[in-house]
Amino acid sequence: MGDTQTDPQIGGEIDERYSRQILFREIGREGQQKLLASRVLIVGCGALGASHAEMLARAGVGHLRIVDRDFVEFTNLQRQTLFKEADAAERLPKAVAAMQRLAEINSGIDVEPIVADVNNSNVEQLIAGCDVVIDGTDNFQVRYLLNDACVKHNIRWIYGAAVSSYGTTMTIVPGETPCLRCIFDEMPDAGSSPTCDTAGVIMPIIATVSATQVTEALKLLVGDVDSLHCSLMQFDIWANDRQRIKLGEPNPDCKCCGQHVFEFLDADSQEFAAVLCGRNAVQIAPANGSSLDLAQLASNLSSLADVKQNEYLLRFSIDGRELTVFADGRAIVKGTDDIAAARSLYARYVGT
Ligand SMILES: [Zn+2]
Repeated sequence: MGDTQTDPQIGGEIDERYSRQILFREIGREGQQKLLASRVLIVGCGALGASHAEMLARAGVGHLRIVDRDFVEFTNLQRQTLFKEADAAERLPKAVAAMQRLAEINSGIDVEPIVADVNNSNVEQLIAGCDVVIDGTDNFQVRYLLNDACVKHNIRWIYGAAVSSYGTTMTIVPGETPCLRCIFDEMPDAGSSPTCDTAGVIMPIIATVSATQVTEALKLLVGDVDSLHCSLMQFDIWANDRQRIKLGEPNPDCKCCGQHVFEFLDADSQEFAAVLCGRNAVQIAPANGSSLDLAQLASNLSSLADVKQNEYLLRFSIDGRELTVFADGRAIVKGTDDIAAARSLYARYVGT
């Protein structure tokens, strides 16, 4: 490995492009080759996810799969580094806007954008074949689901969260370190924790948490597990506070990694509709995924509302609410946190 004379992967442009990273002894040429051959799933492409994606793409991780359910809005631009004003004006799905920008940053890697809601019907398929899964979501439902799926399939994953000026992260190596449920047995109740939409967030905490997560991902990908921080890291950059709580062994009584009972993965079905916390919006998601003919829907709605459409979604306002409908049949209804009202609008204008 690493022979510049015989290996077409390494040498010339590759050596030059990644020279500063190859000089970094803990990565080196061999580590760079491993990165180029690696596959990472980024779950959620908001502030944390966009930052993970940019750093991993620049580092030369060969294949990035990015899944996100949402579209770019102007309120994202303050901290979501991959996106620009035109993406928000067009309301591009975040996964697609990320892919476009990453292709400009590094054309030598593959980026696979997936516009979807992560749930128990698709999570195992999404993590399949990935060396590391990195958490860029904004909700615990998905994190507990990821924890179940990654422990079940023995895939390393890196939890991360940031809100206000506070953030936290831990790295889960199934079977070797505690999992998310070893530390937080019960999922916090919906609405019990502040979110970026209620408490705000400043970009430096995103940079701090995402940098810690990506560094852990690089260590895992190059095989330097001895350098993992093996702790629950907590930061409050405004309060100048940083804590590192050392983690011990996995808890043998843990439902997930101890008993292999995967409650979140094996739940009967996901909610058909969910309030998007703090956003005055509801997501409606068809139970088993489906596909929708956006052009047909736009034509059906054209006499009722002003419909704006791109390749991935359409949106229209009606009855004081704004509906954004994706090609997979999902819709985000803005202007209400009433699930029944949102369902009724969906049924009336999109179909059931
Ligand atoms: Zn556990």
